[in-house]
Amino acid sequence: MRSALAGDLLDALDMQAAVLDARGTIVAVNGAWKRFASANQGDRSTYYVGSNYLDVCEAAARRASGAGAQAVLNGIRSVMRGERERCTIEYPCDAPTQRRCFVVHVARFRHEGADYIGLVHEEITARKQAEERLQEAEATLRKVLEALPIGVWIMDREGHIIHGNSAGKRIWAGALYVGPEQFGEYKGWWLSNGRRIAADEWAATRAIRKGETSIDEEIRIECFDGTSKIILNSAVPLRDAAGTISGAIIVNQDITRRKAAEEQLRRATATVDAMNRELQEVLAREQDNARTDELTGVSNRRRFFELAEPMFAAAQRSCTPFSVLLFDIDDFKRCNDLFGHQVGDAVLRRVADIAREHTRGADLLARYGGEEFVVALPETDAEGAMTVAEHIRQGIAASRLRAGDREIGVTISGGVAEMQVGDDTLDRLIRRADQALYAAKDAGRNCIRPHAAEDGG
Ligand code: GH3
Ligand code: MG
Ligand code: MG
Repeated sequence: MRSALAGDLLDALDMQAAVLDARGTIVAVNGAWKRFASANQGDRSTYYVGSNYLDVCEAAARRASGAGAQAVLNGIRSVMRGERERCTIEYPCDAPTQRRCFVVHVARFRHEGADYIGLVHEEITARKQAEERLQEAEATLRKVLEALPIGVWIMDREGHIIHGNSAGKRIWAGALYVGPEQFGEYKGWWLSNGRRIAADEWAATRAIRKGETSIDEEIRIECFDGTSKIILNSAVPLRDAAGTISGAIIVNQDITRRKAAEEQLRRATATVDAMNRELQEVLAREQDNARTDELTGVSNRRRFFELAEPMFAAAQRSCTPFSVLLFDIDDFKRCNDLFGHQVGDAVLRRVADIAREHTRGADLLARYGGEEFVVALPETDAEGAMTVAEHIRQGIAASRLRAGDREIGVTISGGVAEMQVGDDTLDRLIRRADQALYAAKDAGRNCIRPHAAEDGG
């Protein structure tokens, strides 16, 4: 019953099973063996009960493609000789139109006092092809990894490097570390400055131990030649089908040159910024110079109109008083003639200084031209302007300038005009102040005159 059941089982199997006696004669075969024999052999007798399987293998081994048969033969013989209890031999056995691959399991056993050999052939073509495809895919993957400009490392659960591409090796080449082999063991790396890099500092370790994903962590690698590299380091844990961490993929990108370029750019930008600021300052100074009278340091005529025009317009809008004082050094030509031009210049500077002392911050003093000065006085009526003008006049009249062993005294004459209805422009107001100045000159100089209605408009 048991043997009938076992026989049925063997017949139902897809594998070809046979029993050989101690001399290699086939004594029993299953259904799959029979089907295989009839489907594949021209000479039917060779594979059937009664024929000697060793002879069959020997004949096959003599053929050009007989390496597989020879391997099977050797395996069976070694088991028959008792060198081993069993063996498994993989061998190719191509059909006319198809590449095939088999494995044969050979085992020795005793039955009713006699030695027998059991053979089970199994076709593994599909498995072999799958393995080949896997190998091809792996080879392609390796080629892709090699072609990448970034470093890629694959590690197992223990942190051992399974694969590292050339870019990765280039990135880490020359790095200061102590390890059993340059790229063999990741875990044992530490810098030769003696400081062991703590496990958690490595993104790879965190990926493997904690399942952490790290993207673009910037790390600095010190090298034996004294240089250092800046690396972007990323690590992603690998998981098997059950979700258990089986290793990690680490990606490195060398950004040393990019960093250096960024730093250069930053420095260049800073230099350009500094130059720009300097240029702005020079420009501002130049603009200031263009609006300042070089000799006296007060505003020139151009600056006067730039600033006084809006002051005048504002006064008009707000109907607040606004006055202008125009004054001129008396007999200045004679001063120049007597003491020389340089002394004349010094007199001009002194006059400007005194006028500055007697004007407020809101007032605008300017050299109007030659030895003539103008003061715009916002929120000041004629009376107030007269007071300011008198202070200036008296201050100048009281001042003495030394020229060699002589003392020089100068006086000024001035005209004051307050903005009135009808003064539609600043020019008109200045013209009225000028008329008052003429009146002061006419009155004998060293005096200030307000513009009077009879002076005309
Ligand atoms: P008045 O009292 O009528 O104003 O007589 P004045 O001599 O002052 O008037 P005039 O216009 O005849 O002469 C002005 C002089 O001022 C002539 C010119 O050489 C002199 N002057 C103008 N600008 C400067 C300057 O920058 N430096 C010097 N040293 N003299 C100057
Ligand atoms: Mg003069
Ligand atoms: Mg003059």
